[in-house]
Amino acid sequence: MKPLLELRGVIHVYVGDQGANLAVEGLDLSISRGQFISLVGPSGCGKTTVLSLLAGLLLPAKGEVLIDGETIRRPSAKIGYMLQQDYLFPWRSILDNATIGLELSGRKTAEGIAYVRSLLHELGLGEAESRMPYELSGGMRQRVALARTLATEPEVLLLDEPFSSLDLQIKLQLEDLVWKTLRSLGKTAVLVTHDLAEAAAMSDTVIVLARNPGRILTRFDMPEEMRAALPTEARRHPSFQHMYDLIWEKLESGHGKGEGADEIDKA
Ligand code: ADP
Ligand code: MG
Repeated sequence: MKPLLELRGVIHVYVGDQGANLAVEGLDLSISRGQFISLVGPSGCGKTTVLSLLAGLLLPAKGEVLIDGETIRRPSAKIGYMLQQDYLFPWRSILDNATIGLELSGRKTAEGIAYVRSLLHELGLGEAESRMPYELSGGMRQRVALARTLATEPEVLLLDEPFSSLDLQIKLQLEDLVWKTLRSLGKTAVLVTHDLAEAAAMSDTVIVLARNPGRILTRFDMPEEMRAALPTEARRHPSFQHMYDLIWEKLESGHGKGEGADEIDKA
């Protein structure tokens, strides 16, 4: 099957006051439609850079980034980006926050609003649509941010540490909810996380990166029964610990080769 997303020989260099910084090198990656993949690796290995390249916010210095076989040159409606910080506008209601993408793209029609309402309902926020962001918990705010990202019906969701500021209990609930929602809508997802258990529980495939320069060390495909299970169930699957250990060992092996190895969370 033709991949939906592709990186081919991608190199990215940041150029700034301190000169040029080779951020990622030799990235080759294919992601099929409907796949859920995670990127894990130490701070500075290029996870956010990869998401920015996929989002069309950065152009590679070398190589190609493609969606559906077409080079990505600028941000497109096919790709939605959800950040760790929810960036809700405090003066707008939940519904008005969730419809902002529709508004900006001139698609805030009755039909569009009805779709956002159905998303809010599915995400357990049906009763909250006229409330203001300050009235919501962190988990609720992230669900609004998810509804807002899904509102414009992107094919791909890029998720940069969306659960990392949440309490464990809420985080586990949200992992299940996000997984279920994306799967039922047939979305393709790329999740950045420092939590290896989260990566193993949510993904079809986990990509392990190393840094200095950022590069792909390996990919692990999760066993079929784990992929088919909700994340909270996948965590209890007999293969879970084994997959977790494999990812951890790989991270450790790529560790320390660059300077200043630190801070991999063994969450
Ligand atoms: P991660 O998200 O895995 O922590 P990043 O993609 O943010 O990694 O960074 C990859 C590399 O690129 C790091 O060496 C980082 O210092 C560098 N980098 C990231 N953003 C910039 C920038 N705006 N200017 C210069 N260097 C950057
Ligand atoms: Mg980052």
